[in-house]
Amino acid sequence: MLWDMLPLRVQTRNVMRHLDVLCSQIGMRYSGTQGEREGAEYIASQMRRYGLQVKFHEFEFLNWLPCNVEATLLKGGKEKRIQGIGEFVFSQATPPGGVEGELVFLESDHDAHFRSRRLRGKIGLVIGAIDVSKRETAIKFMESGLKGVIYVDNRIPFPWKAPIGMAPQWRDDFYMPVVSAPYLKAIELEKEIPARVRLNIDCWTGMNYSQNVIGEIRGSHYPEEIIVVSSHLDSVLGNVGADDNASGCVFVLELARLMARLKPKRTIRFICYGVEEKLSVGAYLYMRSLERSETRRIILCLNADSIASRVGGNIAYITGAPELHDYFREQFDQGEVPVETRDEVNPYSDHFPLNICGVPSVWATRANMLGSYYWALHSQHDNLNNVSPKILAQISASYAKILHDLVSRNSLPFARKIASKQMRKVKEIAQEVYRHPWNPKQA
Ligand SMILES: [Zn+2]
Repeated sequence: MLWDMLPLRVQTRNVMRHLDVLCSQIGMRYSGTQGEREGAEYIASQMRRYGLQVKFHEFEFLNWLPCNVEATLLKGGKEKRIQGIGEFVFSQATPPGGVEGELVFLESDHDAHFRSRRLRGKIGLVIGAIDVSKRETAIKFMESGLKGVIYVDNRIPFPWKAPIGMAPQWRDDFYMPVVSAPYLKAIELEKEIPARVRLNIDCWTGMNYSQNVIGEIRGSHYPEEIIVVSSHLDSVLGNVGADDNASGCVFVLELARLMARLKPKRTIRFICYGVEEKLSVGAYLYMRSLERSETRRIILCLNADSIASRVGGNIAYITGAPELHDYFREQFDQGEVPVETRDEVNPYSDHFPLNICGVPSVWATRANMLGSYYWALHSQHDNLNNVSPKILAQISASYAKILHDLVSRNSLPFARKIASKQMRKVKEIAQEVYRHPWNPKQA
């Protein structure tokens, strides 16, 4: 194989150094904070070191920060603070004394369920089953007269807290005081019913700045054909985001370092986006900032998000033409690292805004739970102890080989095309979940 002769070696010591800077020296990189900015500057400095031309795409976005978030159980004349309560991003603040009501368990968004109960003035306990990204569901909530909600992320059935929340564009339909609770805490809480609960939420919502870091290697033969290699550099609140998504940033940096030495025939644009954790705001605004002729030049997006979990299995979510899938399947079969390929449209990472513009994508990830979830997701456990630099180096190396093949060929083995069935799904999600076209400045 040609690539065996090439110096496409990902250095585990580079991987460890980048992880250390992003997670230990910088730490939490929540959107709009100094940490996110420092992450962006570090990535830019490394890309420059490798000889890339680097630009910052700065943008304004609606941010949210918690000041104080509490829930109190009121039962038998006693008041007890509920432990483990956390924030729900883009929750409304409560009035100074909080909101108080009878606790009621809401098992689904079924109409009959909403009709059959008198929810007015109560606090709802929701364990995952109700999706507030859906407009009709949000409207049902608002019309029910509930005073507030305790929301549980049921992808994380553990005793620890993991922040959850909304995209800013969902606030138009769903605006009420919401806190999050750990799954096992919510189970205990349900046993306390009948009881009253008081929520106290003090938070800040306002415009902030963030940035996408863009480093480019111009192609020698086909500079008009662009492959985007991306990840997001922000983390959620309360953890350093070692897997989600320092791992993806290291992937981008290592591929940038290797490709810079190889003189690719096509242009490779390496991007680390800000504000992914609020539904890919950075990637969405980046695509919106490009001329249509420019988006047409992007022929593929290779996105890495959460790829270095110690245990788990590699997955590539492929959105494109069948030939794109076939090509990647064949490449993985020849490689040394097992990767499961799935033809799937998945809106929860930064490739999706490119899909909206018709760009095919491959999302590299590594899941470790039933349902392809991640046990450490958004929690204190997403730290350096639970990622493997070795695994990160191996998976980066296998994609580096594929990327090198793609930028060395004279013709590509697939078209810039998304299969029509997938494209219908992309359009549906773009409309319903992203509320595309959406202008964050109106938020
Ligand atoms: Zn992520």
